[in-house]
Amino acid sequence: MSRIKAPPAKPAAPRRPRAKTMIAKPPGSKPGGAKPSVERRLIGIPVSEGVAIGPVFSAIEPEITPARRRIQAADIEAERRRLDDAVTQSKKQLAKLRGRLDLLPEESQAEIAPLIDVYTQMLGPSRLMRNMRRRIEENLVAAETAVHDESEAIAVAVLAVAGDEAEQRASARRHAEEVREIGRRLMRNLTRQPFRSFAALPAGAVLVCEYLRPADVALLDPARLAGVATDEGGADGHTAIMLRALGIPAVLGVAGATEAARPGALAIVDGGKGEVILNPQTATLLDARRAVTGFARQRQQWARLKRLAAITSDNQAVELQANLELPAELPLIAQAGAAGIGLLRSEFLFMNRERMPNEDQQAEIYRGFIEAMGGDPVTIRALDWSGEKEIDALIAEGLVPDLPPENPALSVRGLRLLLRQPEMFETQLAAILRAAIAGPVRILLPMVTTIGELRAAREVFERVVRRLRRRGERLPEPLPPLGIMIETPAAALSADALALEADFFAIGSNDLTMYTLAVDRAEAEVAALYDPLHPAVLRLMQFAIEAALLLRKPVSVCGELAGNPKFTPLLLGLGLRSFSMNASAVPRVKQRVRQISAEACARFARRVMEQNDSSLIDELLSEFAEAND
Ligand code: PEP
Ligand code: MG
Repeated sequence: MSRIKAPPAKPAAPRRPRAKTMIAKPPGSKPGGAKPSVERRLIGIPVSEGVAIGPVFSAIEPEITPARRRIQAADIEAERRRLDDAVTQSKKQLAKLRGRLDLLPEESQAEIAPLIDVYTQMLGPSRLMRNMRRRIEENLVAAETAVHDESEAIAVAVLAVAGDEAEQRASARRHAEEVREIGRRLMRNLTRQPFRSFAALPAGAVLVCEYLRPADVALLDPARLAGVATDEGGADGHTAIMLRALGIPAVLGVAGATEAARPGALAIVDGGKGEVILNPQTATLLDARRAVTGFARQRQQWARLKRLAAITSDNQAVELQANLELPAELPLIAQAGAAGIGLLRSEFLFMNRERMPNEDQQAEIYRGFIEAMGGDPVTIRALDWSGEKEIDALIAEGLVPDLPPENPALSVRGLRLLLRQPEMFETQLAAILRAAIAGPVRILLPMVTTIGELRAAREVFERVVRRLRRRGERLPEPLPPLGIMIETPAAALSADALALEADFFAIGSNDLTMYTLAVDRAEAEVAALYDPLHPAVLRLMQFAIEAALLLRKPVSVCGELAGNPKFTPLLLGLGLRSFSMNASAVPRVKQRVRQISAEACARFARRVMEQNDSSLIDELLSEFAEAND
C-alpha cells in the first residue's frame, strides 16, 4: 500500500493541532465577563435556522496531562523540531485571535489584548522557551514533557517568591497562570487528545464553544441539544452543513461567545438571524418563545407538501433529493419527502474511531441506507478527506499525515488521497458495489481536477469489479454509474471533456465557490467574501451544466445553494432539474418549484447571467422571489 509519509519525527501519535482561540482568564478576573443580569446581543453567521432557548453549556477542552516520555539522544533534534512547530502554530493562533479582537465589545478587548501580548512574548526568545529546549537536550524527554515540566517549574517558582501583600500574591497568581496557559496551549498543539466528550451535556442546553470540528458534530444528539454558538466557523464549512442537516439552531463565527457566555446563564440562539442573546430580559424571552412556536408551525405547513409532486407550473418534473452526512438524518429524510439521497457524504463512517471500517462493515451500512430509501436512488460519494474533516481513523492508521499540510485545501484531499491509497479506495468501492444489489446506487468521486484522475479511478473501479466477480459476489446489473463532483474551477472549465467520460455530474457549489474566489468556506474572517452568486462562480456552473446537457449526462447540484429557495429559479433557468440538499430544505424548495414556470426561469437566468455584480444578482433574485410568492 502506498502511504503518505508521516513527518520524520513522529512521536507517539501526536494529534493534528486544532485552531484554538480560547484565552484562559487569569485568576481574579470576572468569570464570564458579563454580569448575569445584563442582556447582551452578539452577532455571528446564521448557519442553521430555528430559535433555541436554554442554559449555556461550555464545552471546555479536557485538561492536558501528557504521559511522561523519555527519548534517546538521537531523537533530540526531532523533538526540538516538534517543539518549534508547536510554537509556530501557537503564535499563529494568537495572531489570529489578535486580529479578531476589534469585533469584541471594548471592555473585553481591554481585558484580552494585553494577555495575548504576554503570551506572544513568552513564545519568543524567553527564558521559558530556552529552558524547554534545554530540558529536551539535557533531560532527554519528549517535547510535551519538557513543556509541562518547565511551565510547571516556573509557575511554582513565581508563586514561591510572591510577597505577603495581597496585591503581590494576586499578581504572582496571574503570572503563574499565564505561564501554565501557554504551556497548555503548546501541549495541546503537541499531543493527541481524546475525542471530545459531550456526555455531560444536559438536555435542552445551548452549547457554546470556540470551535466544533465536523467529527464533534457527529457526536451531538440533536434530540438533547437546543442550539449551538461558536467563536469560529463559516457559513458553508462541514460543521455548518452538519448542524443544518441535524436541524440544530446554530450561529457560528460569533466573536467573543465563549468569553461572554457564563455556564448556566440563559441564552437564545437565533440561527436564522445569526444572533446570540445572553441573559435575555423578559420581553426578549417572550419574543423568542413566540419565534419558537412560529417556526414549529411553519415546519408543519411545509410537511403538508410532502405528498405533492415536485413539478413546475409548466409541468417540468424536478428531482429533489437529500444530502446525508450522519445516520441520524435518515428519519428527517423520510419526513421531508425527498426522492432519495443525492449525496451521501461517507466521511462519517470513518470519524471518531481508531480503525478503518472493513469491507463487510461498510457494505452493511451502505445496504442499510439503500434499503431505507425503498427503491429511490442513493448517490454514495467515496471518502472525501480534507484538512477540515479531521478523521481520526485515517490518522491512526497512518493513511494521512499527523500534521496538516501548510495548505490543506490545496494538498492531498478527495480523489487525490483515494488514488494514493488504492487499498482503502478499493475496499470502499467493493463495499458499495456489494451493497448496490439492494437498490439503485450511483458512485460519486470527490475533488476531481483532471481527466487523468477520472480515468485512474475508473481503472480501480473496473479492477474491483473483476475481483468481486472472481470471488463470486453478486453484483448489480448494470453496474452503478461512476460520476464526478464538479467542485473545482479546473473541473468546471474541463466539463466538456469530463462529460465524455463521467457518467454524471454533481456540482459542489460549496468548494466551487471556495476555490473560485480563494475564500475559505469555514473561516469566519472571510465569511463576507464567500459568495456563490459571484458571476465567476455562476459562469463556471453554467458552463458545466451546458456541457452535461449537451451530452445528455445527468447533472445535479448538491452544494448548499441547492437548498435555498431563493436560488431555485436561477438554477432551474440554467437547465438543472436535479437538486440535493439538507432534508429540511426539501419542502421549501418544492414549494418554490411549484410556484414558477421553467420557461420564466430560463428568461430570468439569461438576465442574471448578463450581470457582473453579485449584489445586483442578489437583488434580482429577491425581486423574482417576491413577484412569484
Ligand atoms: C461541495 O463542495 O459543494 C460539496 C457538496 O461537497 P462538500 O460540501 O462535502 O465538500
Ligand atoms: Mg466539496
